[in-house]
Amino acid sequence: MTSEARGTGRYAPSPSGDLHLGNLRTGLIAWACARKAGLGFVMRMEDLDERCRPEYVETQLRDLSEIGMDWDGDVLFQSDRIDAYNQVVSELLERDLVYECYCTRADIKDAPRAPHAPPGAYPGTCRDLTEVEREQGRQKLAPMDRGPALRLKTTNDQLTITDRIWGEFTGHIDDFVVRRGDGAHAYNLVAVVDDEYQNVRQVVRADDLLESTPRQVYLQKLLGYETPEYVHVPLVLNRGGKRLAKRDGAVTLDELHREGWSTQQVFALISESLGIQGDNSADFLDQFSINSIAREPWIFDSETLARSW
Ligand code: GLU
Repeated sequence: MTSEARGTGRYAPSPSGDLHLGNLRTGLIAWACARKAGLGFVMRMEDLDERCRPEYVETQLRDLSEIGMDWDGDVLFQSDRIDAYNQVVSELLERDLVYECYCTRADIKDAPRAPHAPPGAYPGTCRDLTEVEREQGRQKLAPMDRGPALRLKTTNDQLTITDRIWGEFTGHIDDFVVRRGDGAHAYNLVAVVDDEYQNVRQVVRADDLLESTPRQVYLQKLLGYETPEYVHVPLVLNRGGKRLAKRDGAVTLDELHREGWSTQQVFALISESLGIQGDNSADFLDQFSINSIAREPWIFDSETLARSW
């Protein structure tokens, strides 16, 4: 059996900016996890957001290749997959598993919620409306130039998933959005549909998405898809404990090159954060093990490092 036939791992960046060290590190980990497990490895551009730009597709793929990642087949673009998402939404509609929601953010914030529901959970306001109430809802939204969102009818219960780094993780499943009021398909829907389409058996991504995973697993089960293995990788933070951002100085490959860092030096730094000695992808693959990923975030301090090179 070829590695792709056994299933794939994937990296799914959003082309809304250049990749920073944390993204590159997560990408490399995803690639190494898949290759070590004998799986195929595919690339997906999550380009549905209006902040995404074709030039970032180019720079992201260039940077990922530069650090030695390779992938099987063509890059999948979510913007080419709208028909597939619409088809799944139609299936959910036919099965009476989604309903229109006319709530604004303020409506949701102010609504009373069940005692066990966590803050931010959708309180179910629009789930059982009459036809007259639905019509009123549509009229309320019309002047805001948006239609109703579509929400999944869930059991509003807890769901526990298993992660290779975090062990068991339990999340509350509310009636989450599958298509937004502006017509865009929601991340939780498209990620699940594309993981199935790309035969993904191993999802490696940053741990800020761990919370989305129970919802995604819930949807997989409804659609009859297999649940992949999950590996949520801790983020890279700055000295202040915040996510890396522009204000942290040189954090993208291009910026680091301009500061005089070679690709090998960047590679060595990422490797070192995982206890790997070496400055290239072959060494990385050779020494990599999922067990070497710590639960703690990697703290990147560009100023101190810049002085040490
Ligand atoms: N597009 C998401 C990101 O760049 C990743 C989504 C995923 O891996 O499921 O953070």
